[in-house]
This record gives sequence, structure tokens and C-alpha cells, in this order.
Amino acid sequence: MKIQFSDQKKIFNIHTEEIPYLSVDLLDRLGVPNLYSTRFISYDEKEGKGREGLRVVVMKDEDPREAGPVVFENRDRLARQLGSSIEMECVTDQMHTNHVYVVRPEDLGPILRQDKPERRRSVDGIITDIPDAVLTAFGGDCPPVYLADPVRKAIGLVHAGWRGTLGRIPAVAIGKMKEEFGSDPADMYAAIGPGICLDCYEMGEEVLDQFADQWGEDEAEKIFRRYPAFMEDGREIPGGKPHLDLMEANRMSLLMAGIPEDHIAVSNVCTKCNADIFYSFRAHRMENEQAAMIVNRWEVR
Ligand SMILES: [Zn+2]
Repeated sequence: MKIQFSDQKKIFNIHTEEIPYLSVDLLDRLGVPNLYSTRFISYDEKEGKGREGLRVVVMKDEDPREAGPVVFENRDRLARQLGSSIEMECVTDQMHTNHVYVVRPEDLGPILRQDKPERRRSVDGIITDIPDAVLTAFGGDCPPVYLADPVRKAIGLVHAGWRGTLGRIPAVAIGKMKEEFGSDPADMYAAIGPGICLDCYEMGEEVLDQFADQWGEDEAEKIFRRYPAFMEDGREIPGGKPHLDLMEANRMSLLMAGIPEDHIAVSNVCTKCNADIFYSFRAHRMENEQAAMIVNRWEVR
């Protein structure tokens, strides 16, 4: 697949054998199965073409009873490519909160949103130490953040849109892994998956204000940059518009939570710059999303 990387660093490995996906090289080297899917059901490297239309999540305007079986089958195939299955899967709710949930054995397996028990209906982060459990989050611009503790054999996965990022959801998840599993952030690894880049992510002034309020002005300055912007009639907006660097913001939360700098991989793939390969909310509104998956298995390499 011809993906545009923002730099030459090797952050991801590309797999196109069955359902195509990217995996995080840092997690691959730890032996933790992980993936981030694309728009494609299959990809022909020789032709340089993919078959479009992979659906991994039921969208709000779809009938869950119709779309459910299709997305479950696709997620099962993806999980099987990582050596597990949907019977071991727990998913996030994508509600833009910073709530983190500890997965129970009875939570594993395919379930539609409306059939979920109340306790796991508004969670954007999930953590587990159950062997072979698959954690899944979705995103079409919002990056996933994968967490892995090779000492306690525990993992986490969060959906980090701007609201979750503002609420420092990766740090909340790490705090909960400390509490629940005795994880030490110094031992842990983290990866920020594909999502929208700074150049593509124009925000309203009110978002900058909220970060300045909650993170302090100095911190907000590190993650926002002003870009020239224009009104509909072509006149330039004085002062331009703020853009948010979601990758750097989440990296800062990971560092703050105690993950060593060299244990963090940061995506160099933008979903909107690569909208021919990924679903991107900013590029095509809501068609579907990518699945991010991580399995709590530690393969000896
Ligand atoms: Zn971009």
C-alpha cells in the first residue's frame, strides 16, 4: 500500500496478505499482536489496488441488526489474523469521554452497543490482564493509544479524540493499570496509532481555550499552532485559526504518566492525508472507521 508517512521513521509495518492492516513496529518487537485496519477488504500489491468497503463498526444511521453480523464477521477475521477471535474481544464505546473500564471475563465476545450492560456504555478506554483478550477501539481521524505492560502482562487501548485527549485519557488508563494490575509506568510501552495530523486538524478558538484552561497556557502553546485561514468570501481571518497536534498532546500525557520517552511510538500516518486508504471523518464524514486491536499475548521473538 502506498501510504504517505510524515517522515522516514519506521513506526508501522504494513501487512496486505489477508485483510490489510498496519501494525506498530515497537509493539511487534515486544511480541504483542496489534493492528490498525484500513478501508480495504483486500489489497493487490501487484495491481496497486485495494477492494474498498471494509466495515468494522455499526454506524449511527445503520440498523444494528442488519449491520451487526457483517461487522462482527470482519472483526472476527481481523482478530483471527492476530491469532485470536471475536469471542475474546471487548470494544470501546466511542463516546469522547475519558472513562476507562476494566474488562471482565463476561464482557468478552461480540455484542451490539444497545445490548451492552450499563457499566460499559460510556467508556473510551479499556484495560485488561486477561490472557488472550482482544481490545478494540475505532477511529477515523481520532488516534488510538495502545498500552502494553510486559512485566504484569497487561494491556490497554484508548480512543483519543480531542475531548479524550483534553481529559488526558492515556494517563487515566495508565493510572488505572497501576491500581488494578500493579503496573509500573517505567516498564510500560505505548503507541499512538494513525490519526489526523497537525496540518489537517483545524479547530475552533473554543477548543484552544479549553486546553489553555485545563492544561495551562504554556502547555497549550506546545500543542497548538496558528495557520492562515480564510472566510467564505476569500478574506483572510485575522490571526488565522488554531490547529491541534493530537499526537504531541497524547505523547505529553504519556510522558506525564511516567512512560519513558524511548518506550513511546508516535504515528507518522495521517488518516486525512491518506484518505484513499483510510476512513477519515474530516475527509468524507462518516462512512465507517478503522479498527485498532491489541491482544494480551506475549509471543517470544
Ligand atoms: Zn494530514
